[in-house]
Amino acid sequence: MPALEGRTAIVTGASSGIGLTTARALAAEGARLALGARRKERLEEVARELGDRHVYATLDVTDGASSTAFVERAAAELGRVDVLVNNAGLALGRTEIAEGSDEDDRVMWETNVAGLVRITRLVLPHMEDGRGHVVNLGSWAGREAYVAGGMYVGTKTAVRALTYVLRKELVGRIRVTTVDPGMVGDTEFSDVRFAGDPEKKAGVYRGVDYLTPDDVADCILWAVTRPPHVNIDEIVVKPLQQASQDAIVRRS
Ligand code: NAP
Repeated sequence: MPALEGRTAIVTGASSGIGLTTARALAAEGARLALGARRKERLEEVARELGDRHVYATLDVTDGASSTAFVERAAAELGRVDVLVNNAGLALGRTEIAEGSDEDDRVMWETNVAGLVRITRLVLPHMEDGRGHVVNLGSWAGREAYVAGGMYVGTKTAVRALTYVLRKELVGRIRVTTVDPGMVGDTEFSDVRFAGDPEKKAGVYRGVDYLTPDDVADCILWAVTRPPHVNIDEIVVKPLQQASQDAIVRRS
């Protein structure tokens, strides 16, 4: 029997990258999903791929009304929510703090931190003790400060801290995991970060066999398919060629 048969899951930011790949992986193991993101046309493409067994609804995690409507619809259609993958997130810019933009910082904070907390707060009442599992997408950036990481480093450090708070608050009831990847390519992360500048994007991944979204989805799937008494606290996963932000071996 597929490992997640009879289980339900919400994935935020399911229109591309890690969120989309995670949705595919969870669906392939039998879970019924509610998938959200801002881009409706992308969700329609996902719906064509994964079929009408799942729920697709626009979601802006920075917006209280949108988040409430999304979770209400997901809960109404799925019933109980077993797994929440808080994946929606972004980086904007790669500048030192002195040159940063208030607006970019605000959007990163609202999305990566306040949005994650908002969705978690809305979903928890729909989880059952002993069954529920919250998986947060952190980042290696939440474990190592780097020059010009700016508010992105701040948000992912906050995600890790909030994961620790949640795990203590929900101990004995709901599983809480953070999955913290290093460099992941084949997503739209760097398109968004560098506002579509192809050279800057290429520079990030040059000469590295980066992680693929499938590699990260694999980690998430593994964490959520452990027996119910097992809590995987943290998964840190990086390409072989990346030991840290400034220890990356690139092929020439
Ligand atoms: P991606 O392809 O750009 O995916 C980001 C997803 O988040 C998209 O589906 C996007 O959909 C959604 N999103 C953004 N803002 C949103 C909002 N306000 N409300 C709802 N959805 C929103 O990038 P990715 O690499 O897969 O990133 C996924 C997560 O992994 C992020 O949390 C990121 O910080 C984390 N991460 C990425 C890397 C990496 O190297 N790529 C490394 C470590 C951690 P819409 O635009 O349609 O809303």
